[in-house]
Order: sequence, then structure tokens, then C-alpha cells
Amino acid sequence: MVIGKPFLTVEQIQNRVKELARKISGDFNGKEILAVGILKGAFMFFADIVRHIDVPMKIDFLIASSYVKSQTSGEINIFADVREDIKGRDVLLIDDIVDTGLTLKYIHDMLLAKNPASLKICTFLDKKTRRKADLKIDYTGFEIPDNYVVGYGLDFDGRFRNLPYISVFKESI
Ligand code: 5GP
Repeated sequence: MVIGKPFLTVEQIQNRVKELARKISGDFNGKEILAVGILKGAFMFFADIVRHIDVPMKIDFLIASSYVKSQTSGEINIFADVREDIKGRDVLLIDDIVDTGLTLKYIHDMLLAKNPASLKICTFLDKKTRRKADLKIDYTGFEIPDNYVVGYGLDFDGRFRNLPYISVFKESI
């Protein structure tokens, strides 16, 4: 297993997170956000960005999984659902990475069925060229090429989530 040098450094990440948080704070001015983080991958991005969002907020999480090792399995499992009442709320769904978009589309539609006042999506990374689902992403940290990345919450087989930066992962050189 090989991970390369940082593809996105701690400094680049932290600067972009602050920029995104400023934009979100402006857009949600006068409202209360219900921020919903998708675990496990979004835990680090979520914890960083909510600290910089300057608007009243409640937080909740759901646990979803669609990947087996580094291959998409096509199957989406929800292990734990949100507990807050979604109806009439201004929901901000926060995820780590959008690839095909199938996972997020599934979660988005599931939450939309609960009649929020609004439902916006914020993702840290976006592999736009791989998109299969028709999904509007409202806030993106970085668009990245089609490489498998780890760190900053993202894993390979459960590992590397604790790295404070993003690296490209390869099983062998
Ligand atoms: P999608 O349904 O958009 O194809 O897949 C989204 C999920 O796949 C993400 O939430 C993440 O868990 C996983 N995923 C997609 N690309 C990557 C990647 O490059 N690295 C890691 N660690 N996970 C990824």
C-alpha cells in the first residue's frame, strides 16, 4: 500500500474550509441550519467547517456506506438515520466526497421526502467526471481528478482517516 505526498495540504484545506464557511454563513443569514453530516467519511470536514459557520445551528449525523475497499459496490446501506425532525428545517447535508453521486442522491431524496424547508449539499471533494446521478452540489471544497484519495476523514479499508491532509492512494507502485 502506498500513499503519495499530500495532494491537498493542511493549509490548503483549512483555507478553503474557511472560505466555504463564509459563503454558507452569508447564504443562510437569518436562518437556523440543521447540519447533517454523513459518517464516517465527513467527520473531519464536518467538525472543521461547522466551527467557522457563523449562523445558529443544530447538528445531526447519519451513517451510510456504499464502498467495499476502494471499489464501489453499487449498494447503499444506511446504518443510522437522522434523529432530528427534518420537516420545515433548512438542512445542509455535509459529505466527504461525491464520486458517481449515487450515495448522496439516495440520501438527498430520502431527506427531501421528509419535507425540509430547504435542502442544500456541501461536499469537501468532487470527482465531477465520474458523475452518474443527477444531483446539484451547492458547495464544493475542491474538484479533483479520478484518483482514489485518502486522509481528512477518507479511508482505505478503514485506515488513513486520521491524516490531516489528502493523499492519493495506490495498492502498489
Ligand atoms: P458515490 O456514491 O458518489 O460513487 O460514492 C461516494 C462515497 O464513496 C463517498 O462518500 C466515499 O465514502 C466513497 N469514495 C468515493 N471516492 C472515494 C475516494 O477517492 N476515496 C475514498 N476514501 N472514498 C471514496
